Amino acid sequence: MKTVKQWKRVGRRIETKYGISYSMYQNIHYWMKKNFGKAGKCENENCSGKSTKYGWALKIGYIYEKNRENFVMLCSSCHSKQDTTEFQRKKMSKLWKGATREYHYVPIIVEKNGIKTRYPSIKSFLEESGLKRSSVKDVLYGKNKTLFGNKISYAN
Ligand SMILES: [Zn+2]
Repeated sequence: MKTVKQWKRVGRRIETKYGISYSMYQNIHYWMKKNFGKAGKCENENCSGKSTKYGWALKIGYIYEKNRENFVMLCSSCHSKQDTTEFQRKKMSKLWKGATREYHYVPIIVEKNGIKTRYPSIKSFLEESGLKRSSVKDVLYGKNKTLFGNKISYAN
């Protein structure tokens, strides 16, 4: 299981992945421990029980602040799982948005029998030709040279 790093160095500052400074991050964790003690169990219902190391974890969708309600006790196995899924979800949604934008708005050039035609988007070309989306990508990304004789490239 890959763990997501909790902080990064930005120039002379240390920023956390939560958009707060590292000292604020430590401050809140210290406050949690002082007021609510050390985390002593895992509150994930589907916990595998693999780890006996516990800690306070920010609930998904909550922000870092001095509020007990924003935190949950997790074992380190569940914690890293939560971090990874949240991280991957964000990454996937970013990728997906990019792909959708490309599909609808990025112009392409299709060349067949020496004749070049410009289409405002992959979508418009597919609608006209009746071809499948995935196969167009194979040509655009260089996996295949042509698609039924069509050479496809980005317009710019
Ligand atoms: Zn757990």
